[in-house]
Amino acid sequence: MRMVEIIAAKRDGRALTTEEIEWVVANYAAGAIPDYQMAALAMAIVLRGMDDRETADLTIAMARSGDMLDLHDIAPLTVDKHSTGGVGDKTTLVLAPLVAAVGLPVAKMSGRGLGFSGGTIDKLESIRGFRTNLSADEFRRAVRELGLVVAAQSGDLAPADKKLYTLRDVTATVESIPLIAASVMSKKLASGADCIVLDVKYGRGAFMQTLVDARRLAQTMVAIGRHAGRRVAAVLSSMQQPLGFAVGNALEVREAIAALRGSGPSDLVELCLVLGSELVRMAGLRNDSDAARALLNAALQSGAAWQKFRAMVINQGGDPDVIDHPERLPVAPVQVDLPAPRAGFVTAIDGQALGLAVNALGGGRSRKEDTIDHAVGLVLQAKVGDAVKAGDPLLTIHAARETDVDHVAERLQLAYTIHDTPPPPIPLVEEIIR
Ligand code: URA
Repeated sequence: MRMVEIIAAKRDGRALTTEEIEWVVANYAAGAIPDYQMAALAMAIVLRGMDDRETADLTIAMARSGDMLDLHDIAPLTVDKHSTGGVGDKTTLVLAPLVAAVGLPVAKMSGRGLGFSGGTIDKLESIRGFRTNLSADEFRRAVRELGLVVAAQSGDLAPADKKLYTLRDVTATVESIPLIAASVMSKKLASGADCIVLDVKYGRGAFMQTLVDARRLAQTMVAIGRHAGRRVAAVLSSMQQPLGFAVGNALEVREAIAALRGSGPSDLVELCLVLGSELVRMAGLRNDSDAARALLNAALQSGAAWQKFRAMVINQGGDPDVIDHPERLPVAPVQVDLPAPRAGFVTAIDGQALGLAVNALGGGRSRKEDTIDHAVGLVLQAKVGDAVKAGDPLLTIHAARETDVDHVAERLQLAYTIHDTPPPPIPLVEEIIR
């Protein structure tokens, strides 16, 4: 087979055969196909799409490109969660310890930032000492001893996705239903969880801009998971504005800690309860969503979820002093408020523009080898529905330098839409696909 012919076939809109897909994935993972050819194929897939059979083939080939974890010797049942990527999405930091606190072992592999969206691993690495690169033995020990681990995708787990994910991040090839579905589900199948909840985001701050596309992505992923014998549910949640108030790595960790200690933003807490209830229900701990929610709420209120998070930080080498005193997380030296240009009601916030601004401040990558500044980011002062007067702060920019503020200020002001009348309320959770 020749890669150039496979790229041309997809460019011209032909469905790739199972054998072609297996060949591409195996050879890309082995280093025999260079990044430039894989990037060309990824772009052809973005533009031409893949049918359900091709998407399932791509998922299975990427899952089998490395180890397929089986955790049943450690725990009879493990749970996992995945988000398709959003802005200000610190859900994993709260949800993982929350469900672990009610007795569901969480074995979670997370990603780094992708495109304009942040990644859990980058966020966790803002905690001094926190190790995200765990060996397979360390990963298994954490599940066995603590019932909770959040680690970077190891080199042995879906390595083809690991390479492709990094490449897509910097080649504008993220926004594609088959590529996202195969990326998410290959990792989920390879990391061995029995019950998986998918947070499928839609709106300006998500890779799926419309509810229709998000639903199609969710249905594709649920079908792949079922086919592989896993219990899977997908929650369609709104990214019409960032989740919570903080966008940026250390700032989001601070907000997640507040949520775990009982004073988190209501949208973040609500989403964690909805996603967590699905896991509790699928795992058979409670039969209905109300009872599941009550169980989770109790774990949040009692401090059990916070203690679980703290134990995970210590178990993975993080300095507990930093999370006990979140003001000791990295802090940006420059903090500047962005004023509202006029009075009115905030009717929309463009999460994508905010995410890109955080990348421009140094909080994300524009090339594979970039290092990131954990301290920088944004803290929203006004969210959709809020009334503002001219000059009121819309958000606070946390930057490394004054000049960085000048670079992002204009686009951030454009990210806010202000009208004379308040907008209709936006439902946070639109639908659950089971
Ligand atoms: N999350 C993933 O793991 N992969 C994608 O492609 C998008 C979001």
